[in-house]
Amino acid sequence: LGNLCRWLAEQAEALGVEIFPGFAASEILYNEDGSIKGVATGDMGIGSDGEKKDAYEPGMELHAKYTIFSEGCRGHLGKQLIQQFNLDQDVSPQHYAIGFKEIWEIDPEKHSEGLVVHGAGWPLSMGKNPTGGSFLYHFEDNQVLVGLIIDLNYQNPHLSTFDEFQRFKHHPEIKKYLEGGKRVAYGARAIAKGGLNSLPKMTLPGALIVGCDAGTLNFAKIKGSHTAMKSGMVAAETIFSALEKGDEGGKDLVEYTENFKNSWVYEELYKSRNFGPALHKFGTLAGGAFNFLDQNIFGGKMPFTLKDNSLDYAQLKLASECAKIDYPRPDGVLSFDKPSSVFLSNTNHEEDQPCHLQLKDPSMPISVNLPKWDEPAQRYCPAGVYEVIEEEGVPKFQINAQNCVHCKTCDIKDPSQNITWVVPEGTGGPNYPNM
Ligand SMILES: Cc1cc2nc3c(=O)[nH]c(=O)nc-3n(C[C@H](O)[C@H](O)[C@H](O)COP(=O)(O)OP(=O)(O)OC[C@H]3O[C@@H](n4cnc5c(N)ncnc54)[C@H](O)[C@@H]3O)c2cc1C
Ligand code: SF4
Repeated sequence: LGNLCRWLAEQAEALGVEIFPGFAASEILYNEDGSIKGVATGDMGIGSDGEKKDAYEPGMELHAKYTIFSEGCRGHLGKQLIQQFNLDQDVSPQHYAIGFKEIWEIDPEKHSEGLVVHGAGWPLSMGKNPTGGSFLYHFEDNQVLVGLIIDLNYQNPHLSTFDEFQRFKHHPEIKKYLEGGKRVAYGARAIAKGGLNSLPKMTLPGALIVGCDAGTLNFAKIKGSHTAMKSGMVAAETIFSALEKGDEGGKDLVEYTENFKNSWVYEELYKSRNFGPALHKFGTLAGGAFNFLDQNIFGGKMPFTLKDNSLDYAQLKLASECAKIDYPRPDGVLSFDKPSSVFLSNTNHEEDQPCHLQLKDPSMPISVNLPKWDEPAQRYCPAGVYEVIEEEGVPKFQINAQNCVHCKTCDIKDPSQNITWVVPEGTGGPNYPNM
């Protein structure tokens, strides 16, 4: 996908599109009538104390007749817009998973370009919770992509998403390919998997929200690139058509909804609408059987729609009610520790900047989350950003923001909904050249 994005960027630039890869949009700008005016990029050169440093440069304002938000799953600005404009008032809550992916170079003898292996169950449950799925894709140059998707409605706060993934690679069907190979990349990212049932209204005055920022992923296939692209293409066509007719901008282009419904992406999402709710309601085995019938016999056209109106973060049970999980130590061959994994994500942040992981109430991790859920941030974060350390016998919540791989899981799964992920300075974040 990284290669495809680089190629697409070249095509866009050749058509005259300007791309600013070094600047994240950090703020939404509004016209006086409340419609979207554009975005502002973040200021550069602000220290961790909030003061301007010598290298300070103010952010830029980018104004447009229409702004398309496409930040991917749990976009920092998209989340604000969905809340502020109540775009999700008529749909089920969004559902999420965390997806891990590694690239391995394997023994050419074991490589079979094009081979796809999908799995469900172990190391997760064949029952109702925790659920998820796995993949192993053989692609070019003797490389494979291996990954585990863990639904973020899991209940046991002792679950460590990272350790589940490390454990997964020891399954005989996976191990047989990876043994003798070399891990070359590691990454993690949340997935918005609620599909059509959770898809908010994608238009608002002066703006549209597309792709995984809205939630266009087809969870039955765990594929969202094609649907994200199509939702963006329909947005471009809708805006182009409006501007051609002399539209001055700032309107709610509700015709997008109709255009989206008339595109193949709507039909695809309609057919897969029961997939996620079936797994949540019936578990991996029974839900999988239902999905087999729904997808393969009925073509996704069963005459009813299953819905899951629960909130993923609210599913965590108290730590005292759940069994601790004894994860095996990484063997350094198939499984690894977090620091060496984060190193392979190439994540990098300017150290002296305000923390981009903001706590609404800084006391909550220790006063509420620790006693109730043994502060699960220590285990759901795939990069070891959150730690509870002891200082003179007193527990302290520590945020190692430099390690963050921008997966957004903390913004989603914190049971107190106390963490807000905001864009860090400039190009800070992981660098996934081939993921
Ligand atoms: C482990 C895993 C495996 C997957 N496998 C597949 C697969 O095999 N096939 C498939 O089709 N899909 C797959 N997906 C899903 C797919 O990656 C997404 O559906 C797809 O990338 C969504 O595209 P998008 O453009 O909406 O968002 P993204 O691809 O997330 O792109 C959003 C971009 O916006 C940038 N951004 C975010 N916020 C800002 C901001 N404020 N300012 C500026 N830039 C910003 C981000 O850095 C990012 O580059 C997988 C996902 C995961 C996690
Ligand atoms: S801090 Fe949050 S966004 Fe960053 S890697 Fe950890 S869970 Fe993901």
